[in-house]
Amino acid sequence: MSLYRNGLQEVRARIAGATAATHNPATVRLVAVSKSFSPTAVRAVHALGQTDFGENYVQEALDKMTSLADLPDLEWHFIGPLQSNKAKPVAERFGWVHTVDRLKIAERLSAARPWDQPPLNVCIQVNISGEPTKSGLTPDAAVELAPSIAALPRLVLRGFMGIGEATDDSLRQRAQFAVARHCLERCRAKGLALDTLSMGMSGDFEAAIAEGATMVRVGSAIFGTRKPA
Ligand SMILES: *Cc1c(COP(=O)(O)O)cnc(C)c1O
Repeated sequence: MSLYRNGLQEVRARIAGATAATHNPATVRLVAVSKSFSPTAVRAVHALGQTDFGENYVQEALDKMTSLADLPDLEWHFIGPLQSNKAKPVAERFGWVHTVDRLKIAERLSAARPWDQPPLNVCIQVNISGEPTKSGLTPDAAVELAPSIAALPRLVLRGFMGIGEATDDSLRQRAQFAVARHCLERCRAKGLALDTLSMGMSGDFEAAIAEGATMVRVGSAIFGTRKPA
């Protein structure tokens, strides 16, 4: 009996419930956030049918990928702050980057994406809560940046990513997730074919799904509480 079976089942049930409540036929993709957890933990969750995993720190992720190289179907998502000097290994080893926040980093990712791999999927990070401590662009800046990123040859701009404020107030959560949805809608109105809203974590993904999340990033509800870094 896997240590993670109950957590994963509960998360899947919560996603199904929240999705059913939206009357929206779109499916929600679960990214299991494995930062600070061991390759053994990732292997156990993968054995339960989970293939998408999210990581915040480049070196920790690369070490984990090496330990798990025998698993053929893992899809790795980079969800942490990205420095330009780390763009190359990220472009080489991940399938997705959720945290693009400037053209320069996107250009580096595109230049470093190997030609024998499909284009790298990226999202632009929007500061949906407006908190000064949070990364991400203002909604206007994010929408303005989108066409330049969509034009890069080795990237596919998929949509927007946001991190909600830590609050239990579900109306407040929803108002913030709606900010990312509006960015997506504005870009679609300009003709960009975007399909992804990466938003919602262990404590707030129901609110994110209610506002149109297509991808939720869930760590502690699957893996348990993280030790402080
Ligand atoms: C850690 C992290 C998560 C997962 O958070 P939980 O509260 O453990 O579900 C999701 N997104 C980002 C960007 C993170 O850094």
